[in-house]
Amino acid sequence: MNIRLASGKEIPVEMHKVRIVQKIHLRSVDERRRALEEAGYNTFLLRTRDIFLDMLTDSGVNAMSDNQLAGMMVADDAYAGGESYYRLVDAVKDVLGYRFVLPVHQGRAAEHLIDKVFLKPGQVVPTNYHFTTTRAHIEILGGTMLEIYADEALNTQSTHPFKGNIDLNKLNDVIKRYGPEKIAYVRMEATTNLLGGQPFSLENMRAVREICDRHKLLFVLDGSLVSENAYLIKQREPGYAHKGVAEIIKEMCSLADIYYMSARKNTSVRGGMIATNNEKFYLQLRDWLPVYEGFLTYGGMSVKEVEAMAIGLREMTAPEVAGCAVEQVKYFAHRLLENGVPVVTPPGGLACHLDARRFLPHIPQTQYPAGALSAAVYLSSGIRTMERGTISTDRDKDGKEILADLELTRIAVPRRVYTISHIEYAVDRITWLYQHRDLVKGLKFVEEPPVLRFFFGKLAALEDWGKTLSEAFKKELGDY
Ligand SMILES: *Cc1c(COP(=O)(O)O)cnc(C)c1O
Repeated sequence: MNIRLASGKEIPVEMHKVRIVQKIHLRSVDERRRALEEAGYNTFLLRTRDIFLDMLTDSGVNAMSDNQLAGMMVADDAYAGGESYYRLVDAVKDVLGYRFVLPVHQGRAAEHLIDKVFLKPGQVVPTNYHFTTTRAHIEILGGTMLEIYADEALNTQSTHPFKGNIDLNKLNDVIKRYGPEKIAYVRMEATTNLLGGQPFSLENMRAVREICDRHKLLFVLDGSLVSENAYLIKQREPGYAHKGVAEIIKEMCSLADIYYMSARKNTSVRGGMIATNNEKFYLQLRDWLPVYEGFLTYGGMSVKEVEAMAIGLREMTAPEVAGCAVEQVKYFAHRLLENGVPVVTPPGGLACHLDARRFLPHIPQTQYPAGALSAAVYLSSGIRTMERGTISTDRDKDGKEILADLELTRIAVPRRVYTISHIEYAVDRITWLYQHRDLVKGLKFVEEPPVLRFFFGKLAALEDWGKTLSEAFKKELGDY
């Protein structure tokens, strides 16, 4: 919750206390350089023992509540008909308003089943923006994703409150060009992950629903980050300030035909699910569930996680839970902006994003500025972040480099895990790095896998800049 201090400054005070802790290690800058070199300048290949703050992702690394942990102890271990499933069904009904629930092992499994049932080869899926796994499943089944965001979405220095909106003119154009029968479904993703955690407005979602009704199109909501989108609607959309997060989530869900989510995000567990009020859709999806996931009442999830997810769904409607990461991200971004560091604005849902093109303007996209920045942040702080730029975009069929729309270094803020002092540390070291940005050069691949190269690829620092940067660090700041 944001508390205004007597000085007038606002800080997001943590509305929880820590009762279980995990030790973390701050390695010296020389040790960090060794670890980074072993990892081929790829933060995915670092080990936890060498990481101080793990801000790679917000997926599966959030802190559970005492009630969620307690729930795991009373989970019902039945293969079929388990009570934990029925408690999940009750929670989905109460929180999201859907009657039918299909648990799956994680978000991408929901995408796999939805595409298997509702997408035919040659069809298209218009969406506000792609997510990596979403696009992969659509393309594997012979479909094409069409991103129909407003042009403003790619402006990293924006004040637009809803960069996650669908551009309605583009949606109408897609319908005209392809015809409704070639559209498998229209997809909206809450708090668009790869656009920098940007929300859409309910006004926009309602308009998309109307267009879908007019053309009898299926409307799918990816709600992996639904509570954060709802929290941002409450803050930014006229007419919603007095409404509760729970009420806004319900309204969003009422507009979609099919809802799915990764439970690794908002609900702070591991798993996922699909939900709907349409019995026909439910039965079509249900038939495939035991083939790919598991029996209906656990869907490939541990029943402990099913139980914790039911509790997490209810908890995520509390403003201090829905807003926990959002407020930390906002604080983080504003502190960096105060120091002149280029971050994506407005701050969004899951992470603070550095704009690598503005941070390192001397590095061409072919030398991976976001990857270099991610490596440099680790070297100067022990903080692990994720490249979301050209390294995360595989080459085309002819082996040509595809330059990404945005070169971002994503500093995820896992929910209820880090404190303001951790964020202050991050701000300090990233600001130091910004003041020494000229020392950072590009990267080149030494081992490049053909698909999803960002996971296992190994790179090297051009002009051995890791050495130059760590020498400068030691001279000014010492070993740590
Ligand atoms: C994480 C995520 C997914 C995929 O979920 P997994 O649980 O990682 O498989 C899909 N969509 C969005 C928006 C996500 O953030």
